[in-house]
Amino acid sequence: MSNFDFDLFIIGAGSGGVRAARIAGAYGARVAVAEEHRVGGTCVIRGCVPKKLLVYGSHFAEDLDDAAMFGWDVPEKRFDWAVLRDNVLGEVSRLEGLYGETLGNHDVQVFKDRAVITGPNQIRLGSGRTMTAGKILVAVGARPALPDVPGVEHAITSNEVFHLERMPRRVVIAGGGYIANEFAGIFHQFGAHVTLVNRSDTILRGYDEQIVDRLVKISIAKGIDMRFNSAFSAIDKQEDGSLICRMNGCDDIIADEVLFAIGRTPNTEGLGLQEAGVKLSDNGAIIVDDEYRSSVPTIFAVGDVTDRIQLTPVAIREGQAFADTQFGGKKIRVDYGCVPSSVFSHPPIAAVGLTEGQAKNRLGTVRTYTSDFRPMKNVLAGRNERSLYKLVVDDGSDEVVGVHLIGPDAPEIMQAAAIAVKARLKKADFDATVALHPTMAEELVLMR
Ligand code: NDP
Repeated sequence: MSNFDFDLFIIGAGSGGVRAARIAGAYGARVAVAEEHRVGGTCVIRGCVPKKLLVYGSHFAEDLDDAAMFGWDVPEKRFDWAVLRDNVLGEVSRLEGLYGETLGNHDVQVFKDRAVITGPNQIRLGSGRTMTAGKILVAVGARPALPDVPGVEHAITSNEVFHLERMPRRVVIAGGGYIANEFAGIFHQFGAHVTLVNRSDTILRGYDEQIVDRLVKISIAKGIDMRFNSAFSAIDKQEDGSLICRMNGCDDIIADEVLFAIGRTPNTEGLGLQEAGVKLSDNGAIIVDDEYRSSVPTIFAVGDVTDRIQLTPVAIREGQAFADTQFGGKKIRVDYGCVPSSVFSHPPIAAVGLTEGQAKNRLGTVRTYTSDFRPMKNVLAGRNERSLYKLVVDDGSDEVVGVHLIGPDAPEIMQAAAIAVKARLKKADFDATVALHPTMAEELVLMR
């Protein structure tokens, strides 16, 4: 037993920190976690979980409209934001409790306090209490970035969006990434007029262009207003509480809420990292090696604070690998290849592997297969919304190197498709698989 108070002190009880704490605790390490907000972190408290519940809630708008063609007489629909908001926040609190229980079950000591690093093996809590640990893991995540624009204090971010007092009538969303497209769909389905503003001429950079193009077309057809090559010069609050977005590149826009979703910044300020000798990248992320070790040998970091791939399952894998390697005697490395991802837009996008453009650059000759179809549920409902599935195949090896989908349930379908791409299956294997009929997913094995 070392002379330190703990074997491991973790700052941040989000996805990466909680996994590392639980696994290190299971290996017998004496573990403590400090969390200044709520146990669960971004994903559980103000990210993936409440967002997905809002996606479910918002989808009823279309489902209730479509129900008539399936024989249902639905009385005039009415949406009560306060009911959904409070139910979602209740679920978040329930999950927060479960996360706390998990830590307790693994004898992890939780300090509900801010912690800063005061030396390679030393931490000071907000209360003033100082503690020591053999290893320190920084898993403090990231926070929404905000531009330096006059009046930006009138805008909200994904931190505040789950707590809105009322559903706004007009929403302006800045950004063209995950959060912007997900909340464009959510607000639109709840009946708000949505304007999405992006600085460049595209959205969702990194996703396959054909799939993104389909989302843009569907979003515009639904009534979402999209402005490209535009930037905010100021946000003015009027006496009636509405906001005027002064724009460069497009006309000014009036809104009841303005949501900034322009990326996330690692939460490294004021943590004592640089004073302790921890090297940071230009955007403030902690630079780590493939064991998550920073430039200070006793200080490690996992998850969004390292700004590798800002996704919950990646942070969880990193936390697991860190604990296995440092406390379980196993040298585990995370494989960052073939990480599937989804945008929970309306309809959702899902992808794994290389886009057509990336594959051409890396592999030379590629074959692509597409299926452009109207899901049978949409046909009967009279909803003119088409799905698009795309396979990218390495012409030399016949391996399927990318799968890209837009359409209902695309993320659910993608998890299984990602196994095939990860296993480097060939197009011939897809072709040899019998279709499961009638499904949308069968298109994956029917493309010729
Ligand atoms: P993203 O990185 O997805 O997108 C950022 C968007 O903002 C881009 O369109 C970008 O434009 C634009 N942008 C960047 N900087 C500026 C700026 N200074 N001024 C104006 N526009 C700017 O960020 P999000 O905030 O949507 O999400 C943050 C991260 O959270 C994501 O990267 C993702 O990893 C994670 N996330 C994942 C989800 C999921 O898995 N479904 C859901 C939500 C979040 P350009 O393309 O020109 O750079």
